[in-house]
Amino acid sequence: MSAAVIAYDPNNIFARILRGEIPCKKVYEDEHALAFHDINPQAKIHVLVIAKGAYVSMADFSIKASDKEIVGFFRAEGTTAEKLGVIESGYRLLANHGPNSHQEVPHLHVHIFGGQKLGRMIAVERQS
Ligand code: 5GP
Repeated sequence: MSAAVIAYDPNNIFARILRGEIPCKKVYEDEHALAFHDINPQAKIHVLVIAKGAYVSMADFSIKASDKEIVGFFRAEGTTAEKLGVIESGYRLLANHGPNSHQEVPHLHVHIFGGQKLGRMIAVERQS
């Protein structure tokens, strides 16, 4: 593991969703990923695709995951987008890693936003 990536916490909220300890509104599931609606949606469609493996973030995943897991995760993202019906209209993917991104849950996930015009790119905080 890169020294810059924190250790995985098996009690994070998404690990608990994967274990079925906390319910979710499922969109798609396969051996590599689970996709479900975000509890606090930031767009008309806001779905999270989370890895089945114990990875903190995309940085951690890209270092430690097998090729099979990486391919499986991104195929699951594509399948989820297709199930959501956003391929034609368009959608945005977002993956937070670390403090500057305000990553809230330390388990690899990608946000899928869609169902409406999303504006351009990101909002950046003012530097003090
Ligand atoms: P992050 O900031 O880590 O990229 O995003 C974490 C996301 O997880 C947030 O958009 C937040 O609303 C969502 N979230 C946090 N807890 C839960 C939960 O218990 N259930 C669901 N469905 N989403 C959650």
